[in-house]
Amino acid sequence: MQIADKTVVAIDYVLKDDAGEVIDSSEGQQPLTYLHGASGIIPGLERELTGKQVGDELQVSIAPADGYGGRNDGLRQEVAHDQFQGVQNLSVGMQFQADSNAGPMVVTVVEISDATVTIDGNHPLAGMNLNFSVTVRDIREATQEELQHGHAHGPGGHSH
Ligand code: ZN
Repeated sequence: MQIADKTVVAIDYVLKDDAGEVIDSSEGQQPLTYLHGASGIIPGLERELTGKQVGDELQVSIAPADGYGGRNDGLRQEVAHDQFQGVQNLSVGMQFQADSNAGPMVVTVVEISDATVTIDGNHPLAGMNLNFSVTVRDIREATQEELQHGHAHGPGGHSH
């Protein structure tokens, strides 16, 4: 069986930045399971996986345009400390749900000074080349329910 739209795919992966640092990995966890063709993973990786079979290994480097997009400096802003009242031990790297003109978004605390806190609404991987090592572990037909929901169910997928 080959990876195609309407298949559910399980992959093991290691993601590195251009400096070779591991950013993310499925090692020690369940393989990542997703519904192919439903934008469950970044477009560049989905395209590279199309047509692959169980056991195939790939090394792919994905540019920001096919990953999490470019960085938008307009999404970075300084806010007053009192915006974080009630937050224990505010520190760099913490993420919060915030309301914006474009709807709810996740912001990351990137800098804390005496006067202000700098938050960034960019995806943490925006603007980065994403270097993946991927091994295909499993491919199966999606169920009718999965196709209706637009995501994979079961181990490594959605549980609800
Ligand atoms: Zn579902």
